[in-house]
Amino acid sequence: MGGIEMRNRTGKGVGYALVFVLMTMLLGACASDIPDTAKTSNSGVTEDAGNAGNAGNAGNAGNAGNAGNTGNGTGDEAAGNSAANSTDADTVKAGSKAGSGTKNQSHSELQGSADDAKGGSKAAAADPESVAVLVNKEYALPEDYKPEDLVYPDVRFTFKEKIEKRKMRKEAASALEELFAGAEKDNIYLAGVSAYRSHSTQTSLFNRYVKKDGLEKAKTYSAVPGHSEHETGLAIDVSGSDGKCAAEDCFGGTKEADWLAKYAHKYGFIIRYPEGKENITGYKYEPWHLRYVGKEIAADIVEREITLEEYYDAVPVSANP
Ligand SMILES: [Zn+2]
Repeated sequence: MGGIEMRNRTGKGVGYALVFVLMTMLLGACASDIPDTAKTSNSGVTEDAGNAGNAGNAGNAGNAGNAGNTGNGTGDEAAGNSAANSTDADTVKAGSKAGSGTKNQSHSELQGSADDAKGGSKAAAADPESVAVLVNKEYALPEDYKPEDLVYPDVRFTFKEKIEKRKMRKEAASALEELFAGAEKDNIYLAGVSAYRSHSTQTSLFNRYVKKDGLEKAKTYSAVPGHSEHETGLAIDVSGSDGKCAAEDCFGGTKEADWLAKYAHKYGFIIRYPEGKENITGYKYEPWHLRYVGKEIAADIVEREITLEEYYDAVPVSANP
């Protein structure tokens, strides 16, 4: 279960709570663009990392089998770090649900919860087309999902090339342009580091690491396809215009990070993995990872000091009785 359970499923998965808690202390979410060799274990892992579980897919028991298809997965997208570990609560889940299609089940659970609880917009959580879609260690995008409206936001990036990781979905791209412009008015100069990442890029990357280090180790630091927010086209890692501390812990506390924490929601973005919410999001604090959810939801999330998981009434397994 990675870590969250819907309230109406109280009880299930409780056994994984401890494993999950331990895991979350050690995993990060982005690390998207720094070659693995350049990163250290304390700077986190890709958000997909540690998704050993990916249970449904795990039903295939072996993404490992794909290892041969390494492709030449863009070094830039290197997911990696020498992540500390990944005992993977998800792995446990994979065992119990293998083959049952975690992804679908999760989504229907979510849907059910939405219906049971507040209904309405909450159903957006399971809709990959929604800008409010929930993607995390438990909830994956459909395997064949590809955003249809990707564009190049007209903002500064840390690189010049017009390549995949520069893209975002149209609505998010427009909002990002406004955010960057708003920051400049306050003399804050931001740069994009990595935005969209296709399922195939993520798959190539993951397979490359599997080939290099074996499945178990690869899962500890590389992204398992389907669970990365970057695959939605709604997330972006940002840094200051100098590119320093891009997707690294040292970005925290910079004037750029402070500005984002204070104002990003006014443009419809949230700091997706806030400090102190590690046991809910499954990721350590990532001040650089912005997720577009729209202004209304962003304002609500910030005002209530909650996460996207909590917005959808998902709670950590460890919080269940
Ligand atoms: Zn990120």
